[in-house]
Amino acid sequence: MNANKNLVIVGAGHAGVEAAFGLRANGWEGNIWLVGDAEVLPHHLPPLSKAYLAGRATPESLYLRTPDAYAAQNIQLLSGTKVTAITRGRRQVSLSDGQVLDYERLVLATGGRPRLLPVANGAAGKAANFRYLRTLEDAECIRQQLIPGNRLVVIGGGYVGLEVAATAIKANVQVTLLDTTDRVLARVTAPPVSAFYERLHREAGVDIRTSTQVCGFEMSADQQKVTAVLCEDGTRLAADLVVAGIGLVPNCELASAAGLQVDNGIVVNEQMQTSDPVIMAIGDCAQFHSRIYGRWVRIESVPNALEQARKVAAIVCGKPPRSEAAPWFWSDQYEVGLKMVGLSEGYDRIIIRGSLEQPNFSVFYLQGDRVLAVDTVNRPVEFNLSKQIITDRLPVEPNLLDDESVSLKEIIAAANAELNSA
Ligand SMILES: Cc1cc2nc3c(=O)[nH]c(=O)nc-3n(C[C@H](O)[C@H](O)[C@H](O)COP(=O)(O)OP(=O)(O)OC[C@H]3O[C@@H](n4cnc5c(N)ncnc54)[C@H](O)[C@@H]3O)c2cc1C
Repeated sequence: MNANKNLVIVGAGHAGVEAAFGLRANGWEGNIWLVGDAEVLPHHLPPLSKAYLAGRATPESLYLRTPDAYAAQNIQLLSGTKVTAITRGRRQVSLSDGQVLDYERLVLATGGRPRLLPVANGAAGKAANFRYLRTLEDAECIRQQLIPGNRLVVIGGGYVGLEVAATAIKANVQVTLLDTTDRVLARVTAPPVSAFYERLHREAGVDIRTSTQVCGFEMSADQQKVTAVLCEDGTRLAADLVVAGIGLVPNCELASAAGLQVDNGIVVNEQMQTSDPVIMAIGDCAQFHSRIYGRWVRIESVPNALEQARKVAAIVCGKPPRSEAAPWFWSDQYEVGLKMVGLSEGYDRIIIRGSLEQPNFSVFYLQGDRVLAVDTVNRPVEFNLSKQIITDRLPVEPNLLDDESVSLKEIIAAANAELNSA
């Protein structure tokens, strides 16, 4: 039915690759062009701050699909190739190698790039020992400099920064982690969770300095290396390596230049269509209206990228897509595996089940009787049930949640009974 049609996917990351294989699985018979600017085969990103950085993974072990899987599914993978322009009037994309591809459908899965540190816009930003972490090449460069005794300064106390710090300290690197806010993970977690992570890192030997603003760098005489990080409070931190992790900027320029609607992400409707219905956007670059939260969101996580890719594959092939599920994310630091579900922004209280003294707890973020998000450590059952609470927007009884003798299963049953009787 669609045998002669061309579908082009821009970006061969988690979302793009999943969409390509999902399209085949759903019966798309036409051509699939998967265009990615990375030279290496599409690979997992999360291990770049974890197993790969720790030297426990090879590039091959990170591949999203085996090298021959693409040909086996008749997916034309163009690695090391950038899509430079979309000509919507002719339904064509231009590639960096001079090729032009026609499309009936175009899927933008362009992800994002690290937010740049303004004070590193000079020589420091180009130094070999100053890195952001988004690509395999970044991870390789950082890994080679995690030499015992070296001094690493991590700028940014978000998940990526903390994971780099945890990996580095285990490699006997001296680690100082700086954040401008008064606690790590301030943007995404409640103060007790930040305190839990700060304690974990300090016990491992990381020197965490919050409320600290970087104002510049000291360079070697030849300007090739950063030798120290300078802070506004006058502190000078000698450094052999600096890693900055201060957030992500979605890659929307291609979409903007093509006249598509962009607003902190490429704006899509429920069908993942951009303001041009034959162009869709998925993953880190896409901004959508969440049914669960009733507001516009853009989510940076692998599960979200995969879910939206599968949704697009189903929609393009005329199959019913799964409805929006609660977004989730994970982070591994030391032996502690954190799994988070939902978006906590706007919470008015938290309820903690378990104890933050041990790595075994769940923190519920509530707005009234509605659970917005849950952070869980070593509580897989509560994590899975929390997904259901958030996806179904179940109203819970806070007093029950506060009582560990009542299981989450019972709380869900009570919430469902309440809904059914209403
Ligand atoms: C170090 C690190 C650790 C992480 N840890 C976790 C974790 O533990 N859990 C989790 O859920 N998420 C984690 N993430 C986030 C997760 O990796 C992203 O949410 C996910 O990769 C998003 O997938 P994506 O396909 O939307 O974007 P990406 O994976 O970024 O893929 C987009 C691709 O498109 C390419 N591209 C962009 N523009 C063009 C163009 N014009 N032409 C061709 N190609 C183009 C980009 O170069 C990129 O390769 C981590 C990210 C990093 C960097």
